[in-house]
Amino acid sequence: MPKQKQRKYFSVSSLRTYNNCPKCYELKYVHKVKQPYSTTAMHLGKSVHAGLAELYKGRGLDVARSEFLSALENGWSSVKHSDGSKPDFKELKIEGYTLIDSYDIASDFEEWGKPLAVEDSISVDVSTKIEGVYLPLPLMGVPDVVFRGPVIDHKIVSSPLDDDYIQNDLQRVAYSFLYEALTGERESSFIYNQIVRRKGVPRRIRRQVDSATDVERRMFAEVAKDVLSKIERGDFQRNPHARRHDYELLCM
Ligand code: SF4
Repeated sequence: MPKQKQRKYFSVSSLRTYNNCPKCYELKYVHKVKQPYSTTAMHLGKSVHAGLAELYKGRGLDVARSEFLSALENGWSSVKHSDGSKPDFKELKIEGYTLIDSYDIASDFEEWGKPLAVEDSISVDVSTKIEGVYLPLPLMGVPDVVFRGPVIDHKIVSSPLDDDYIQNDLQRVAYSFLYEALTGERESSFIYNQIVRRKGVPRRIRRQVDSATDVERRMFAEVAKDVLSKIERGDFQRNPHARRHDYELLCM
């Protein structure tokens, strides 16, 4: 499997993709098949993230809006709603502007000072942090914002995240390792900065949870070890019960 050997790291999204459907992992990460389309929600989320990053870098609302707009335009031809219909560009642009404009980051700066990292790639060898668990690849991730203390993740959601999601969130625990690699310390907390999409003024919900525990970190390492060894063995069974089907035209 020559292409697998070229991989230099693994990410949380690659673990999630494999856990959802190993075949999907193979198409995406081994054969590098482009996903046939982006859903409206995914594309809006990605574009708003691009705008918010500019705000956290201190570049102001105008730059944030223009960065959002160019991200929204980029790849627009492949965007559609999950029912297959095409969204209205103007409506989505207005919605994105409203989301970004409503985003008051002054209190974050007041509380924690300047961010240590905004959308920066960070990698870490998890094996060096968890005794007795060897992972053949380092973990790589791009946290939205890292302050000295908390890690912040933006989420554009249709309803607030529940406890079950938060307890089982691999990303939250992965970012604990990345924070440690960046600062040499453990994070103080993880903040889910949720913007709930709805008609009118968007609702912002900030959910702050404690830093990842040692047990959660070990469990993350064990999950990663298991998935990476299955990938190494070329175990790419199709999962007919997958929650998301990104390549339905290719394999359904
Ligand atoms: S379309 Fe569904 S079954 Fe096919 S690879 Fe993707 S997730 Fe797996």
